[in-house]
Amino acid sequence: MPADSSLRAYRFQLRLRPAQEKQLARYAGMMRWLWNRALAEQQSRRERGQKYAGYASMCGWLTVWRNAPETSWLAEGPAQPQQQVLKRLDTAFRTFFANVKAGRTPGYPRFKKRGEEPGIRFPDSKQFKLDAANGRLQLPKLGWLRLRMSRQVVGELRNASVTREGVRWYVAIQTLQAGVVPAACVAPSLGIDLGVANFAGLSDGRLIEPLAALKAQQRRLRRYQRSVSRKVKGSYNRKKAVVKLRALHKRIAQQRNDWLHKLTSGLASEHPVIAIEDLQVASMTASARGNAALPGKMVRQKAGLNRAILDAAWGEYRRQLEYKLAARGGQVLAVDPAYTSRTCRICGHQAAENRKTQSVFACVACGHTEHADINAATNILAAGHAAWISGTSARSDACGGVVRRAAFARTKRAAPVKQEPTEGLTDA
Ligand SMILES: [Zn+2]
Repeated sequence: MPADSSLRAYRFQLRLRPAQEKQLARYAGMMRWLWNRALAEQQSRRERGQKYAGYASMCGWLTVWRNAPETSWLAEGPAQPQQQVLKRLDTAFRTFFANVKAGRTPGYPRFKKRGEEPGIRFPDSKQFKLDAANGRLQLPKLGWLRLRMSRQVVGELRNASVTREGVRWYVAIQTLQAGVVPAACVAPSLGIDLGVANFAGLSDGRLIEPLAALKAQQRRLRRYQRSVSRKVKGSYNRKKAVVKLRALHKRIAQQRNDWLHKLTSGLASEHPVIAIEDLQVASMTASARGNAALPGKMVRQKAGLNRAILDAAWGEYRRQLEYKLAARGGQVLAVDPAYTSRTCRICGHQAAENRKTQSVFACVACGHTEHADINAATNILAAGHAAWISGTSARSDACGGVVRRAAFARTKRAAPVKQEPTEGLTDA
């Protein structure tokens, strides 16, 4: 891989005809069968005192199985993805051996249950064709599949993986993109503060509204939960209610993730390096967020359902942002959010009284007034920038002495945040 290029991943939902879906489900089932069959074979070798058989040997087994009359149905599936399953099993075994050797928790490869299919990976771009203009993808033995092309695919195609999530099917396409600046050379250009009334405030002044659909679902969720708790334990009606509740949970997660994908893709395409609050740090220093000043209004006091949904959304938001930035050669800088919500970004004055209500920040020292989430997001950006600066000298070699700061110029107005030294955060 050339030094100035990076791998990028795109993920699209497949819009399958029933026959295609049936075929895909069948291939996915083959992958699971193959994983389990090869794993069982390795285990019986172990019991017989034989050595572990590597990837090449397992590929030999696959050829035998594809030709044997009782398992010849395997040959109806695409061959390369089947080899990929064995490659992944081999990796799982090698990780296991390495862990045993190093005295870590070993993690022996496990059998895959229904619904845990390993996915169908086409490792070679010669094997598939992407017709972006018509929103379709051609795969061996599957023909043309329609895609929900939510964005443009940039770069040279590398591989494609088809996976199932619940009832939906997705394809992840990896491309190699040239000319991506390594993240170490780019200063953070956006700070994000997560809120409650708004999903987030951004340092560029934007407020991200929460997904409205979730609110409606939340009421339904509460109703379904009550319905479960009212039914007699072990009864058929309770089981029915539990199934309904589970389906709703899944639907909520799907809606939330679709919405988050749009949000994080947009942010990741605008900013290579983004500073966010490290919420694990936040929960350790809970009082630092200034909740004592706003009893009953801050997140921590909002126990229960609301909180659980927010937590899940925040976790997913961070996960998506991290992998999307990494795929573009960028990164997420997680900073300690201590005092970011009660410090004035203009004069640096830090006081609980600065935070008038959940949404209004009004500095008691300089009078600066702004939406609280945006003030906090700007402070988070400043903290991210400080963390980045302290790691710059170490990085300048890697960047050939050129460190890009232009991206930060726009937000120069941000005042430095008074806070504890952010050790260990520089290369987060
Ligand atoms: Zn001020």
